[in-house]
Amino acid sequence: MSDCLFCKIINKTIPSTAVYEDEFVYAFKDINPVAPVHVLIVPKQHIANVNDIDASNAKYLIDIHLAAKKITEELGIKDSGYRLINNCGSDGGQTVFHLHYHLIGGKNLGLNLL
Ligand code: 5GP
Ligand code: ZN
Repeated sequence: MSDCLFCKIINKTIPSTAVYEDEFVYAFKDINPVAPVHVLIVPKQHIANVNDIDASNAKYLIDIHLAAKKITEELGIKDSGYRLINNCGSDGGQTVFHLHYHLIGGKNLGLNLL
């Protein structure tokens, strides 16, 4: 999608710091990290958010989780733990309307959900 920020990051029109990439997903460092590890994992296909997941594209959810596991192994936080967060829609705090999961860790995040 030509006017989507994350599509531009995926096709490298806009630079980012890559953390992981395969045929289906791209993962890069969040520009405004909230923890020592803050990575965004996105499907290479433009999907606006969870509301647009259906049987034709649901496989991306598996790909994103498999990528998350690989990234946490690579970064050494798999066993200490981490959080995988999706914000959906404006009340959910979504500001970029290309499906993405925040992989956050590298410190004890406590029990707060916000
Ligand atoms: P949301 O609020 O939609 O769940 O998350 C969007 C995230 O994208 C935010 O954490 C924000 O810091 C990040 N972000 C926004 N613009 C850019 C950018 O140009 N590059 C990178 N790497 N991250 C961005
Ligand atoms: Zn997009």
